[in-house]
Formats: sequence, structure tokens, C-alpha cells
Amino acid sequence: MAKIIDGVAVAAEIRRELKVRSQALRERGVVPGLAVIMVGNDPASSVYVRNKVRACKEVGIESFRFDFEQDAEPASVLALIRELNCRSDIHGILVQLPLPPRFSVSEVLQTLSVDKDVDGFHLYNVGGLVVGGTVFPPCTPYGVVKMLEHEEIELEGQNVVVVGASNIVGKPMALMLMQRDATVCICHAKTRDLAQFTVLADILVVAAGKPNLIVPEMVKPGAVVIDVGINRLANGKLVGDVDFEGVSKKASYITPVPGGVGPMTVTMLLANTIAAAERRLRARQ
Ligand code: NAD
Repeated sequence: MAKIIDGVAVAAEIRRELKVRSQALRERGVVPGLAVIMVGNDPASSVYVRNKVRACKEVGIESFRFDFEQDAEPASVLALIRELNCRSDIHGILVQLPLPPRFSVSEVLQTLSVDKDVDGFHLYNVGGLVVGGTVFPPCTPYGVVKMLEHEEIELEGQNVVVVGASNIVGKPMALMLMQRDATVCICHAKTRDLAQFTVLADILVVAAGKPNLIVPEMVKPGAVVIDVGINRLANGKLVGDVDFEGVSKKASYITPVPGGVGPMTVTMLLANTIAAAERRLRARQ
């Protein structure tokens, strides 16, 4: 039976450390600040934003919310970002995605100051992932790496298969694990016979957004299985991409949904914000 990696507990441990770092900053006259920009009132995004604001409070980060109507002009959002880029009380800026279709997401992300890009989506930070010099790693894959480190799971030389190749999860995940000397394979919706790859994985990271995509026959005995997926079933139940019941009988470690990668994602946003404030303080000295 696999060991269940408790994301809530790992996240709580990291948040305790972040609170100490935040307190140390405050003692030196710096209150870490995060700006959260949201356009429209998508219900899922509203929940995420509320959680982020609450989590900030827990570790001593001041959060600033900026809400725009669904029909807001992109130019006004860009103008706000430029203003926030210059504010000394704001160390991190987060633009909640998705944005309404008339927005150019890449324009919005490239307008962010790279020093405040705590989501890690600016091209500069993405490029940093490729060459191994990232300033702010994107929060979800960063959280996965922290979970693996917490469980002292060896990465060097391990076969890792990442299922999902999005810009926010799959691709950065693969780069971060490659940076740690794992042998990485990326699969996606066009991959032929997914199972022929997944059975080779010592560590299988799944971020496809498809319930029950990974069943026990696709998993190597003793593999570490990290389920990033979040899917709401018709009956209201929240599940990942992995058949948890079946796969947990075969894997050595597994993450649950909910309570696995999810709590880590918000925690790594807090970590990046504290790191941004610390960087600014160092730069001032
Ligand atoms: P996305 O839709 O942008 O990308 C999904 C990726 O999975 C694509 O590369 C696609 O090719 C691949 N894919 C789809 N169906 C597949 C299949 N049948 N076989 C193999 N690959 C397939 O999604 P995303 O933003 O990367 O998110 C992926 C999942 O992770 C979603 O369920 C999302 O809700 C979840 N997510 C969770 C967190 C968290 O904090 N836990 C954070 C971000 C995303």
C-alpha cells in the first residue's frame, strides 16, 4: 500500500517557516506585499483568489486586491500593472487567470516586472527554467518538487514521466526535474499509447485534467505517483487524474486529491512572495 503524501501537512510545515521569514522581514521594516488582480467574477477564480488572500494573512503577507469588471479595458489593467511595478510596498503581483478572451495573456504577463512575477510566468522566468537560473519557479511544479524533497525521494537518474504539457504545469515540471538530473519524458493528448511510457516511470506526475486517466495497469510497481489533476465530477466530487483506489495498491507513494498538490500551490506562491521581498531588501543593502 502506498504512503499517502499529505499536502496539507507539508504545506503547513512550509508555511510555518515562511511566517518566521516574514516576521524577520517585518523586523527589518519590510512588510511583504502581494497584489492580486482579478478581472470578472469567474466562480472558480473567486475561490482561488479568496484562498490566496487568506493564506497571505496566515504567514504575515499584506495582500492588495484589485478587482475589475468582466468588461474592463485591457489598457486599464496594463496601466495598473505598470503602477504596481513601481510601488515599493508591493513585492509580488499575481494576475488571476484565465482572463476574458479579448485580453492578450502574454502581453499582460510580459508587462509584469520580472522582479515581482511571483507566479513565474514571465518569459524571463520561463527562460530561467531552461537554463537552470529561475528566480521564481511556477507554483504548482515548485510545490511538487517540495513534496518530493520532503519525502526525500531521490530524483537523480530516476525515470520521470510527466503526463500533460501545459505552460503552467507540465512543461515547467519537466524542466525542473531535468534540472535535478532525472531522465524526463513528457506525454500529452497526442501521445500514442500513453501506457507504454507511464509503465517505465519511477516517478509519474500527472497533470492532464482527465479523471481516471491513470489506472493500475499503467503504473510500475513501487512508482511514486503525483496527481496534479483537479476534476469536478457530475456528482460534485473532486477527483484527480489517477484512479486513487487502484493505484495506491501498487505505488510506493501517492498524492490524494483533494489535499495533495493543491495546498502546495498556494504555499509556493507565498514562498515566492517572501523571496521577492527578501531579494529587494538585499538589493537595497
Ligand atoms: P491544460 O488543459 O492546460 O493542459 C492539459 C495537458 O494535458 C495538455 O498538455 C494535454 O495535451 C494533456 N492531456 C489532455 N488529455 C490527455 C490524455 N488523455 N492523455 C495525455 N495527456 C493529455 O491543463 P493544466 O492547466 O496543465 O492543468 C492540468 C490539470 O491540473 C487540471 O486538472 C487542472 O485543474 C490541474 N491543476 C491543478 C493545480 C493544483 O494546484 N493542484 C494547479 C494547476 C492545474
